[in-house]
Amino acid sequence: MRIAASVERSRGAVQLGRSPASVGAVSRLDSLRSLQQHLPPAVVDRLRPAVQSARRVVGARVPTTPPGPSPYVQWHGPDATSSTPALACTPIADIVLLQGRAPASSVVEIELSDGRRLAASHRFLHPDAAGHGPADFFELTLDHHVLTSGDPTSYPQHATLIVDGTATPHSVEIPGVPSPAAIVGVEHLNECPACSHDIMMPTGRRQFLEMKTCQQCALVMTSPRPAEDHTLVRYSERYFEEEYLPSQQLSASLTAHIDSILDRVEAAKAISPMLFELGVGGGNLSARATERGWTVRGTDVNPASVQHATARGLDVWLENVDHADSLGGAYGAIVSEMSIEHVRHPEHFCALAADALVPGGQLVVYTVSAEGQSFEHSGMASPLVGPAEHLFLYSAGSLVALCERNGLRVDLVWRNHSADEIGIVASKRTDVANPAIR
Ligand SMILES: [Zn+2]
Repeated sequence: MRIAASVERSRGAVQLGRSPASVGAVSRLDSLRSLQQHLPPAVVDRLRPAVQSARRVVGARVPTTPPGPSPYVQWHGPDATSSTPALACTPIADIVLLQGRAPASSVVEIELSDGRRLAASHRFLHPDAAGHGPADFFELTLDHHVLTSGDPTSYPQHATLIVDGTATPHSVEIPGVPSPAAIVGVEHLNECPACSHDIMMPTGRRQFLEMKTCQQCALVMTSPRPAEDHTLVRYSERYFEEEYLPSQQLSASLTAHIDSILDRVEAAKAISPMLFELGVGGGNLSARATERGWTVRGTDVNPASVQHATARGLDVWLENVDHADSLGGAYGAIVSEMSIEHVRHPEHFCALAADALVPGGQLVVYTVSAEGQSFEHSGMASPLVGPAEHLFLYSAGSLVALCERNGLRVDLVWRNHSADEIGIVASKRTDVANPAIR
């Protein structure tokens, strides 16, 4: 079923609007949605008890805050006024991602080290010129096909992006222009990290990367994906200061959102007041959890984040959970809020979480949804799609599978379709003895 959608900005976040004629269809579609209907028959049969349990809980509980647009600022690029072009370049495997803001009338060119100039024909308004994101935003990706103009013997050693829309043309050196020979360590996912199924169907391409969908649990994943070294370079101090932190400015809606996450695990505090956060980021959630009486610990993969959170008085250490042996303690609650989509091995994190929870403790994961409105309607043009950074887009089935396969009992699955976000709460079963604790 195709539903016409228009896009509008509202309160700094993205909402999908609909034509009146489609509202009834959407309502019917929403009413038809259930966990089971999102899952292929094979996985429904296998997961039926958990899904039924989750549906009962969903039906029994009213979310603390009604679904609405994401509280996060959607624009993550360099901040500048339209009269002051700003550019950011990020080398990712065999591509260079460039984001910037410049007047719409600007000429965007790439000057190669041999003096040739190429028009940057990949320029486009993000994501589809339909109206959200700054109007003067552009994003383009370059790979060696563009930089060589099809002649692999003419590969440039250096290249400069030039934006000429003002009295003084703005330029930025493209860092570390990768050559075809530099493409190393690309990983193919031969089985689904969530459910172990081995049949994945191509879903689309963006930034010269391909995403596939697991045919059993509907997890959407980047495969093949850049080697870890290439994705980790993204999480730099500049990224943290210029792209991430501006999106984390505390507002009433963001605080309400954080509280709605913490409300999900509030009951577990009576079991243990220790809370672990994966991907502390700017520390807003951990700080709020501390205010609410939790003793909080956490990790982040970005040194700038750890420094920032530590300066806020939080107990945070630098660690890449993909290589961690443990979460460093026993916890009543473990929270991953908009971080698991960046993790290369989510099954490893879930196993560590299951080990680290005390019996009765709860894991809450809130992440990017593969079942939200913009992905459903815009596919790979959706603003949530960034396959070099968001390595996974989660379905209800994939989150249930991740938790169940690690011995956690699913308590709750909830989705915010309009914000393309999904969450799950799962408990450490009290009938499973944990020799690490007892
Ligand atoms: Zn799967």
